[in-house]
Amino acid sequence: MQRRKFIRNATLGLAALGLSPTQSLLANQLLGSAGTFKVIRNNVGYYTEKGGTIGWLLSPQASVVIDTQFPEQSENLLSGLKTRQNFEQLDLLINTHHHGDHTGGNPVFAGLFKQHVAHANAKINQEISARKDDKLADILLPTETYTDTWAAQTGNEIVSLNYFGAGHTNGDSIIHFQNANVAHLGDLLFNRRFPYIDPGAGGNFKGWQKVLKKIRKYYDKDTIFIFGHAAENYPVTGSVADVEAMENYIKRLLQYVKKEKKKGTSLDQLVAKTTVIPKAEEWKYGERLRERNLRVAWDEV
Ligand SMILES: [Zn+2]
Repeated sequence: MQRRKFIRNATLGLAALGLSPTQSLLANQLLGSAGTFKVIRNNVGYYTEKGGTIGWLLSPQASVVIDTQFPEQSENLLSGLKTRQNFEQLDLLINTHHHGDHTGGNPVFAGLFKQHVAHANAKINQEISARKDDKLADILLPTETYTDTWAAQTGNEIVSLNYFGAGHTNGDSIIHFQNANVAHLGDLLFNRRFPYIDPGAGGNFKGWQKVLKKIRKYYDKDTIFIFGHAAENYPVTGSVADVEAMENYIKRLLQYVKKEKKKGTSLDQLVAKTTVIPKAEEWKYGERLRERNLRVAWDEV
């Protein structure tokens, strides 16, 4: 049995024993950790458990966390990081964008960071959706925002944030650890999996395609990218070739929907008959999001 599966099964077993969340957390720590920690390059790595991939930098001189999944996952992340390198406060907490599977664990870090940064629109979006759900008291908003670019030095690393326009939402940051040359793309990249898009928060496919092109030109062949999500058995990190593949997916999606619309296919017919997008067949996971992609693209072409 794979180690991860073993841990998951063991954890489910502990839940079945009726352990409290704290006891379960303790048990998870004894078992190792609920999620997966992986070092990517230098002192930069990622953590996956449930929700959008978390990026981190941890050295004796610097500590950065990008995205927080949900509270339980952030607790696990925090205790896992501290066993590697103890720290009092993070230098930087960063959110790639506002969605709950990337910001839900923010409150776990209350009082545990020096700066908390996100794009200005991400902060607005986070506040709007929390107000809509009557959950303003449960969220933690960034303390600092930017509109085009932002950078800071922490230890030997320079961390820069870039905004290249609306795509997945209208507030997606790309976070670059310049010396390690690792960049977190947040949900601008769903690796071989139908992406979630949020038109209500300014997301649109045409813009998204442009943003991916800018990413491809701005970073380089040696850059390792962290992806917000990946299809099962696909990695959550990769290269510029994966950025190009995602850009191609969006291009083919728009082309396909436009052609079908012109031919007189109705939206419902299109949804019913489509399993994959021609010339982007690697994207085949997630029926619900496939339908959403078709519907959003329909409105754009
Ligand atoms: Zn998202």
